[in-house]
Order: sequence, then structure tokens, then C-alpha cells
Amino acid sequence: MLGNEQQGFATRAIHHGYDPLDYHGALNPPVFLTSTYAFDTTDTGSGRFTGEEQGYIYSRVGNPTASVLEARLAALEEGEAGLATSSGMGALTAVIWTLVKAGDEIVADKTLYGCTFALLHHQLERFGVTTRFVDMTDAGNVAVALGPETRLVVTETPSNPNMRVVDIAAVAEVCRRHDVLFVVDNTYCTPYLQRPLTLGADIVVHSATKYLGGHGDLLAGAVVSRRELINQFRSVGIKEMNGACISALDSFLVLRGLKTLQLRMDRHCATAEKLAHDLEAHPAIERVFYPGLPDHPQHALAKRQMKAFGGMIAMELKGGLGAGRAFMDATSLVTRAVSLGDAETLVQHPASMTHSTYSAEERNRHGFTDGLIRLSVGLEDYEDIRRDVMTALDRARQQAVSN
Ligand code: PLP
Repeated sequence: MLGNEQQGFATRAIHHGYDPLDYHGALNPPVFLTSTYAFDTTDTGSGRFTGEEQGYIYSRVGNPTASVLEARLAALEEGEAGLATSSGMGALTAVIWTLVKAGDEIVADKTLYGCTFALLHHQLERFGVTTRFVDMTDAGNVAVALGPETRLVVTETPSNPNMRVVDIAAVAEVCRRHDVLFVVDNTYCTPYLQRPLTLGADIVVHSATKYLGGHGDLLAGAVVSRRELINQFRSVGIKEMNGACISALDSFLVLRGLKTLQLRMDRHCATAEKLAHDLEAHPAIERVFYPGLPDHPQHALAKRQMKAFGGMIAMELKGGLGAGRAFMDATSLVTRAVSLGDAETLVQHPASMTHSTYSAEERNRHGFTDGLIRLSVGLEDYEDIRRDVMTALDRARQQAVSN
């Protein structure tokens, strides 16, 4: 039952990398709750440290339950190897700490998840690594920004929070010509909707906390890339630098989430697309940001690059921040919470929550407004989500009119 390149996505998400007959017929991978591993001889132990012997040493470096998850994620992203981590930030820092040194530069897209921005802009500068932010919706801007010290190009697409879409193949081509590694955060899409490695990216990172886990009950992250790079991220980034190894139990939970990834994503995408159209027609709305809408600036690219348009929507209400806050306070089914990709529909305000790491001036310069509201469309019945959102929009509008 081990992985087979011919198998479809759902089959790989359920089976790849695990054979029950290797573990007493247990349908699900055992959860190896162990920090360390016995060596049958001293030579075995030292051989594992030098790499001459295969086998586990210590769970910061590898764990059998995590190994199943790593193999499965690599198969889904169509990469050589995977590394599971304790969070999405753990995945990103394992990559960055491994690959950069003082004096190096990173080129990044101008809108990124708030803590990714904070890491690149505020924290890495303390260690002599600088980041240039460019608008990557034009791949030409990447070519202009690359310098002799550039080691990495980093993007998310669609971007959190404002849903800009970056042409992965075009940026990958620029990176390849300049011999710079290209990192894509694929959290919003998951490998079901978009596979950056097949479009020329070198490294994919994930917050598996989101759609991959899918149930809002864990934190996890992942990296998929060439085996040689994954080995470095594991032995340097995780083992010697950030220590952000995944636990066996969280590995199990992500594996469980992956079994329904395709079903859940189909539903998230179908509901979000319908809702985005309905939102556009509401008089309280100034603008809806969703790549599935024909007036989205990169709609044609999204259609080409993504299997469907995803479950995330951003919107701006008439009346800006005040109206947005009134909307959020008026929802009842839709839950006010950060994070995304869960069964529950979630709403949050990037400027004061996930992206409060950007100053007001930086938000303005990087192109998203204080009035932007982000919706993570869940798996509830469409009519229930629509009714709650529309009722809250009506209330926000009444408040804006009466003010
Ligand atoms: N990347 C994106 C696009 C995210 O939205 C997030 C979290 O919201 C992260 C990375 C960080 O992931 P984690 O919270 O699992 O550390």
C-alpha cells in the first residue's frame, strides 16, 4: 500500500507512506510517544550520528509518526522529501536560519502573514540580514531587486491578508536565472489547489495549523523540498537552531486531517466562491478581494495556477474601519478569531490582529487598509453562513448610515 506516483491526490492523502501490515495491521499509524531511541550497540549509536547507520536518534531530529507525515506531505506537494515542524513559523525559521548569514539579503513580497513580515523586517535585521519588499505580482520587480547578496526570495500566494496572486512560474524563472532559492508559503492553497514545486519553486512551507490539520486543534508546520535541503533544515535549522520539531501526537492529528483534505477544500472553495459573489452585491460592501471574482486583478493567473480559488475572502466595507468593526461585532455564527482553514467560519481584523506587526505607515506602504476584514470560510451550511454574514452587514450599514 506504499505510495505510488500513479495514485490520485485523495488516495495519496489517505495512504501514502504507511502500510498497516508493518504495524500489526493497525489502520492508523501508531503515535510514537518517545523522546529517545535505544541503540543495540555503541557502534550503532555513533553510526547513526555520523549518518553511516539509518535509524532514529532523538525525537527532535526524527520520529516514526512524524516520518509518515513527512513522506505523505512530500508526495502531496510532489517534492523529494518533507520535514514536519511544530508550527508554520517553526518551518519558516528552520529554512531561513539554515540558509542565511549576516550580510545576506532576502527579497520578499510586500504582503505576507504578519509574523513572517515581522521576522523578515524587524527581527532578522538584528542579525545583519536585510529584506527588500517588492510587489511580486510583477515578476519583473523581483529581477530588479535581486543583488549579489540575495540568498532567498519569499512569497505567499494568495497573499495574507489581501489575496494578491503571484505568478509562481514567472518568479521561479527569475530565481533560476540568478541562482537564488525561491520559497513559497502554500498555506492558503494547500497542495490540493496549488503545487509550487511543479511550477519551479525550490522550497514550499506550510502552516499545517490551518487547512492541512483542518480542525483548529493543533499547531504544526511543514517544509517540502529537495532531499539535500530537507536534510540541512532538519540537522541545522531544527536540530541546532530553532528546535521546532513536531510532536508525535500532532503528527498523528495532521495525518488524520489530511484524509479529508480534498473533501474539505472542495467545500471551502465552493462556499467561498458563492459567498464572494453574494458579498459583492451587498450595498454595505466597498470591495471584495477574492481571486475567483472576474474583476480580481490576477483572476486569469489564479485560474491557471490554482485548481480552485480557495476558502479565504478579504473585504472592505463602506465606512472603513468603523463599519468593519460593527460588522464583526454583529456576527453570531461566524466566530471572531484569528487562524484560518478550520471547519468554523472565522472573521478577524488584520490591522489590529494578525497584521498588527505592520505599523500604520507600513500597512499603508505595503498596500492594505485599516478597514480590511478577513473571512476564513468554514464548512457550515452555505445558507447559515450567508444569513449570518448578510445580517451582520445590514447592521453595519445601518450603523454607518446613522453615524
Ligand atoms: N503562513 C501563513 C500564510 C499564515 O497565515 C500563518 C499563520 O497564520 C503562518 C504562516 C504561521 O503559522 P503558525 O501559526 O502555524 O506558526
